[in-house]
Amino acid sequence: MSPFVNNSVQAAVLYPGTNRDLRVEDRDLWQPAPDQVQIAIAVTGLCGSDLHYYTHGRNGDFAVPAGVITAVGRNVGGLKVGQRVAIEAGIFCRQCSFCVKGRYNLCKTMKFCSSASVFPHFDGTLRERMNHPAYVVPSASLAEPLSVLIHASRRANLQEGHSVLVFGAGTIGLLACALARARGASRIVAVDLNPARLEFAKRNGFATETYTQYLSEQHIQTMKARATGILHHFNQRDGFDLVYECTGAEQCIQMSVFAASTGGKVMLIGMGSRNVLLPLSSAACREVDILGSFRYCDTYPDALELLGSGKLNVDCLVTHRFALKDTKKAFETMARGTDDQGNMVMKVMVGPGSVKV
Ligand SMILES: [Zn+2]
Repeated sequence: MSPFVNNSVQAAVLYPGTNRDLRVEDRDLWQPAPDQVQIAIAVTGLCGSDLHYYTHGRNGDFAVPAGVITAVGRNVGGLKVGQRVAIEAGIFCRQCSFCVKGRYNLCKTMKFCSSASVFPHFDGTLRERMNHPAYVVPSASLAEPLSVLIHASRRANLQEGHSVLVFGAGTIGLLACALARARGASRIVAVDLNPARLEFAKRNGFATETYTQYLSEQHIQTMKARATGILHHFNQRDGFDLVYECTGAEQCIQMSVFAASTGGKVMLIGMGSRNVLLPLSSAACREVDILGSFRYCDTYPDALELLGSGKLNVDCLVTHRFALKDTKKAFETMARGTDDQGNMVMKVMVGPGSVKV
């Protein structure tokens, strides 16, 4: 254990209210508990949930954290100061029925970094250092969001040769494309309402083809007609084997069902609308499986292997990096979707950006 641990660190703290009141301030930090390590946070990736917290004034910040161990609790074995690690952001109980079955992402008492679903709220990683239980893994950029897709794709049984349609060409949607590609999908179509994102998806080899869907069109068109339009456009009249819905928008969820082939699957990944009107008869009569996926479970080994294999060209997804003191600017840039120079914003990272993790 390190003999000296500074007990004050800078942290980005979001205050209640709806005025985007985020301040960087000093927070106490103690020695790690016996089963914890202390980690100097090198980088935290912001995701859509964080942005939602920020713009809707709820408490929280979030984690795709990676860093370097600065102190090790006395009961922790196999980890040492200076080791570079990533953190699986959730702390599960290991005792409930889900944990016992190995489905720990469904743990009834999960404490997830920055989530306001537990009280007191569980702090996130937008700070200089933190203590965390010692289930850490080797570090790699994007291992955490990629884990979300690996988990979803296991549940959807993604196979070589599948035709894949992805609604939403943000970070998660593009990682879905990248994973489908690495797994040998025969065709990967990305749909979004932002042409810049689709251009990015095509230029960087995420999608084989793209389609711009304007949801604000004046004329009323049913979601079935829109989905049929997509299928005709790509001469994929029987539908796609697997549709990843990464927007959370009700209209896209509805289109996903119509765009899936008979016997195909819709994987719901995007979070947005709470209660959605679904074309259930179209799903039921054609045996389209509508699946949910929540975070991830035992996915880090696969994620790290894939990232290390060079099969995924995902480094380009990180378009912007900010220092911790500029966390507010990071959120504002992400909320706008373009930076001061008018460049498209994809994945935003916060932390000492010089550290390549
Ligand atoms: Zn549990």
